[in-house]
Amino acid sequence: MRILVTNDDGIHAPGLAVAEAIARAFSDDVWVVAPMEEQSGAGHSLTITRPLRLRRHDDRRVSVSGTPTDAVMMALLEVMDGAPDLILSGVNRGANLAEDATYSGTVSAAMEGALAGIRSIAMSQVYAGEGVGADVPFAAAEAWGPRALAPLVEAPFPAGTLVNVNFPPLAADAVRGVRVCAQGFRDYGRARAVRHTDPRGFPYYWLNLGPAEGTPAPGTDLAAIADGYVAVTPLHLDLTSAAGLAMLDGLFPA
Ligand code: MN
Repeated sequence: MRILVTNDDGIHAPGLAVAEAIARAFSDDVWVVAPMEEQSGAGHSLTITRPLRLRRHDDRRVSVSGTPTDAVMMALLEVMDGAPDLILSGVNRGANLAEDATYSGTVSAAMEGALAGIRSIAMSQVYAGEGVGADVPFAAAEAWGPRALAPLVEAPFPAGTLVNVNFPPLAADAVRGVRVCAQGFRDYGRARAVRHTDPRGFPYYWLNLGPAEGTPAPGTDLAAIADGYVAVTPLHLDLTSAAGLAMLDGLFPA
């Protein structure tokens, strides 16, 4: 099995090494093609107004001066010697739960893989505490990654479907198991624009997404993590809304 490992935290991120170790539990044919620099929050963006550069670290380890989507495209189009059977993206430093999947470069790299018809899995380690700049313990991902992925790596994913895996912020032996769950939604309104002043007196801002998530709905990824489980959520790229189709059919009768 040929595996491509990528991420959005960049080629030097500790979580990438965790993903590589998980990949090596399944194969020796592991390729790493990841962004040169951190691309958290890049979503599914694609670089088309600037050139991309590749940096070869060794035969099967390349960084790309772009987004996670750029990295997957360059892996498939230029770097790899034949298409991978599996794409692993992560392990992200921090959660990619609920609607955050749409902001996530980690999840978007797996989306790109799913669009290419390749079995693709995003992995994220939820952290507890002050901020993601603090050490993120990857213990749950390290211990539970191979176990959670074993049934997935050769499973027949439906077309356009990827799997989003989040590991809870617990010691490995405190994790209660693996739970299949739906994508949840957080309460909207946790974003803050944090204002500072630069040395010349002009304001600048940092967008910051707070941790508030209300009471998670049962059966969601948010609930699974709150209950101490590895959350395994299938996502797909068909963004069509069935309710919206019915509404629009009513507005535009044939
Ligand atoms: Mn990230």
